[in-house]
Amino acid sequence: MIKYSELKNILKQHNLRVTDCRMDVLEYFIKNNQAFSFKNLEDEFEKYDRVTLYRTLNSFTENGVFHKIPSDTGVVTYGVCSTTCSPQSHNHNHMHFQCNCCGKIECLAEDQIPEIKLPHYEVMEVDMIIKGMCPQCI
Ligand SMILES: [Zn+2]
Ligand SMILES: [Zn+2]
Ligand SMILES: [Zn+2]
Repeated sequence: MIKYSELKNILKQHNLRVTDCRMDVLEYFIKNNQAFSFKNLEDEFEKYDRVTLYRTLNSFTENGVFHKIPSDTGVVTYGVCSTTCSPQSHNHNHMHFQCNCCGKIECLAEDQIPEIKLPHYEVMEVDMIIKGMCPQCI
């Protein structure tokens, strides 16, 4: 379970003021350890209005707390960034896993990327989605 003070620190490190909405959203992501869409948050946090939730996601994305995960369904989900992301440097080299059974999307650890060899190309970012069944669904 993540502590209140740790959540506060994450916000501070990313130049974000502490608000109830930011704390709740961040805790929800970290606690569940998976990616969520704007719609998921709307359903979960009925006490906050859409604009507040939207702004929270936006400020998190801009300041390096969350990153967007594209998917073929057109629904953007958001994942928690690694601690090294900041407003200035916000890039990722990890893959995502999408479960075909429960629909859950997760960030995989950076060291779970196979080495990519592309002679004559310079790889700057790896953005792949692996699909299959998550451990809970197998
Ligand atoms: Zn990031
Ligand atoms: Zn699953
Ligand atoms: Zn991710």
